[in-house]
Amino acid sequence: MMFDVKDKVVLVTGAASGIGAATARLAAARGAKVIATDIDGERIQGVAADCQCIGLKHDVTSADDWDNAITAAVHHHGRLDALVSNAGIVNYEPIIDLDLARFRKLNQVHVEGSFIGLQKAVAQMRAQSGGAPATGSIVLTASVMANCAAPGISAYAVAKAAMANMARAVGVELGRKGDMIRVNALCPGPTRTPLLEGAMPPGALDDPAHWTDVPLGVPQEPEDMAETILFLISEESSFMTATQMVVDGGWSLT
Ligand code: NAD
Repeated sequence: MMFDVKDKVVLVTGAASGIGAATARLAAARGAKVIATDIDGERIQGVAADCQCIGLKHDVTSADDWDNAITAAVHHHGRLDALVSNAGIVNYEPIIDLDLARFRKLNQVHVEGSFIGLQKAVAQMRAQSGGAPATGSIVLTASVMANCAAPGISAYAVAKAAMANMARAVGVELGRKGDMIRVNALCPGPTRTPLLEGAMPPGALDDPAHWTDVPLGVPQEPEDMAETILFLISEESSFMTATQMVVDGGWSLT
């Protein structure tokens, strides 16, 4: 089964690498009109060239950059159908040892970035609806850490919990206001990307001994997450909103 995103206008943040790049590539391959953005203005052009899509430098903590990205979607494709708020950073320090600047940075990228993106995307989806209930799909890439104590990575987990609950809260609020804009959080488990690789000893990602806590026995690939994101964007998930979709090979239940 292939989730149908053909002709949907999809904005993906943090798309120069990992889950975002896989999502941009898969969506473009399935016929979506993709706007791929990242704070790394050089690497995003490589992904955009692969996808034959628009690539933009975009820091998700900047409201002006969000305006530019949404304006680009409307300028080139006339509308915005989906937002994947995916940009992320990680910090492996317990909250108690973390200084305020690093705590703020984690929350700026994940929580404020998603907050600004939600407001701007919903405003555009409402503006283009012509008086009918606004439609669209917004996916916030949270993490299984949103629902864990996550010792050693607790500040990241706090930011991801805020993202996951923001998806729930905004999904309900929009539905109650008569919008048909769906908002869901994706909660990935350990996924083979530079963000995870940077935190692991060399070779650990391919060592089965490292993955005994994952019932399926291996880390996930970014393409697994991309496929789930396409499901959440597509009409196949048309009655899903305000939920957290956990995709982790069963890891969080062990
Ligand atoms: P990644 O490091 O491969 O990609 C993250 C991208 O975000 C990078 O290209 C980076 O340049 C970009 N970015 C960072 N700060 C930004 C900013 N301020 N504005 C715009 N772009 C910015 O990591 P990934 O694993 O693909 O992560 C994607 C998302 O998935 C993140 O939100 C991450 O927290 C989440 N996640 C990852 C895992 C995992 O195991 N890899 C698990 C759960 C959740």
